[in-house]
Amino acid sequence: MTAAQEAQAGPTVPTTRPAQDVPAAGPVPSGVDVLGVGFGPANLSLAIALQEDSPRTSSSFVEAEREPVWQGGMLLDGSDTQNHPCRDLVTLRNPRSHYSFINYLFEQGRLIEHLNLPVEFPLRKEYARYIQWATNQFRSQVALGARATGIAVAEVDGAPGYVVTCADGSRRAGRALVLGTGRTPFVPRPFDGLDSPRVCHLTRYLPTVRQLAPTEPGSIAVIGGSQSAVEIVLDLARRFPRARIVNYVRKFGLRLKDTSPFSEEGFFPAFTDYYYKASRSGKDALDAYMRPTNYSSSDGDVLKELYALIYEQRLDGEQRVFVRGNSEVRAAEADDSGVALEVAEIHTGDVAAERADLVILATGFRDLGPNPQQEPYPALLRGVIDRFQFDADGYLIVEADYSLRPRVDGTPPLFLNGLCESSHGIGDAGSFSLLSLRAATIRDGLRKQGIG
Ligand SMILES: Cc1cc2nc3c(=O)[nH]c(=O)nc-3n(C[C@H](O)[C@H](O)[C@H](O)COP(=O)(O)OP(=O)(O)OC[C@H]3O[C@@H](n4cnc5c(N)ncnc54)[C@H](O)[C@@H]3O)c2cc1C
Repeated sequence: MTAAQEAQAGPTVPTTRPAQDVPAAGPVPSGVDVLGVGFGPANLSLAIALQEDSPRTSSSFVEAEREPVWQGGMLLDGSDTQNHPCRDLVTLRNPRSHYSFINYLFEQGRLIEHLNLPVEFPLRKEYARYIQWATNQFRSQVALGARATGIAVAEVDGAPGYVVTCADGSRRAGRALVLGTGRTPFVPRPFDGLDSPRVCHLTRYLPTVRQLAPTEPGSIAVIGGSQSAVEIVLDLARRFPRARIVNYVRKFGLRLKDTSPFSEEGFFPAFTDYYYKASRSGKDALDAYMRPTNYSSSDGDVLKELYALIYEQRLDGEQRVFVRGNSEVRAAEADDSGVALEVAEIHTGDVAAERADLVILATGFRDLGPNPQQEPYPALLRGVIDRFQFDADGYLIVEADYSLRPRVDGTPPLFLNGLCESSHGIGDAGSFSLLSLRAATIRDGLRKQGIG
């Protein structure tokens, strides 16, 4: 197995052998009450909730990026957020918070101008600046450029706690741990075995195309039928107007998102409670219904723009952008000059040999679970996972308050923040929808365990 394949295969479900912690190397540093890994919107929202509602609870965070930018690999010109802007870091939990998007606009002197914008949702780059503005107010609590590589249980200030080791060798400790690292990118076959700068997941899109400049690729393949895929195709068409761009999609074509207000109630807290209590087969049925509200589908504005672009190119007799439905890439081989693709038509079985200078994978992310497209647990928990329970179907047991259910006495509290779509449903997808309410639930869960 290559390293990339190993990462893709992810961790395996532990057996029920006795817990054998990976020991924390060296002396354990003094700890905070709450230690967070990752400082994206999820843990930032938690830091704010602790500051506002539980000021005596000490917290600190490690963040891999030196200057974190919200989904920086996809901050495309013109792209907008997929949520009402008031579903921000705080408003659903505390509409009077200093850290709301509206207050950010107010403090920047842009509120009235923003309210006059003839658009439904804010630009993603403006939302990223809002998140950066809030992040900057917590700098003293965050170790930036510190990528966590290992987690161990150890005695912290005389009680069980966690020690997190980072790539630079630094270590931090806490009585409770909150993992908010975002979901793992999903790289499907046959790309999972390729280690080539010519193949990238959407999370690396902008750095990859910027590195190409000033060379213009002659042909680019975009894999997947998500909102991100459509945004990437449009961005590529603007950026490289002479390139041949082919979007390979497994389904018949590109689908419109389900934006019915009835379906959108899947992003209500009541749905989270309902989904949490549903059986696994019930959850599967709810997922199948809810999927088009967020996955493998796009908003009408970008779909119409892409359709009109292709129509105009055909009218001019020089089509360069293509959407190939019912297509599956069955084999891929990369060399210095490009990537050779074997593309099958799913229903007729026809196979075509194609070539691309660059392949962008708009193929989504992994959830927690036993299925091939999922991962059983976040790989970072490798050293402590034997302490926690899995259900009969192979799912890690996540309590309603996002803590993991221990199977070993004396296990300190560990919460997942933003990784729980398979236990809590679509409203808990790594999105902003219920982020601020989830922070309140975790804050309460910490209190219940005697922290804060
Ligand atoms: C292209 C794109 C567009 C999106 N647009 C929207 C949108 O418009 N609206 C919406 O609601 N949602 C959107 N989402 C969903 C997105 O997941 C959420 O908006 C949000 O980013 C989730 O926050 P998070 O903190 O859970 O994860 P992330 O934003 O992924 O943040 C996780 C953080 O953890 C850090 N980290 C990871 N591993 C480690 C480690 N080992 N050690 C230390 N730090 C680590 C990362 O550097 C990162 O800063 C979008 C997602 C993508 C990919």
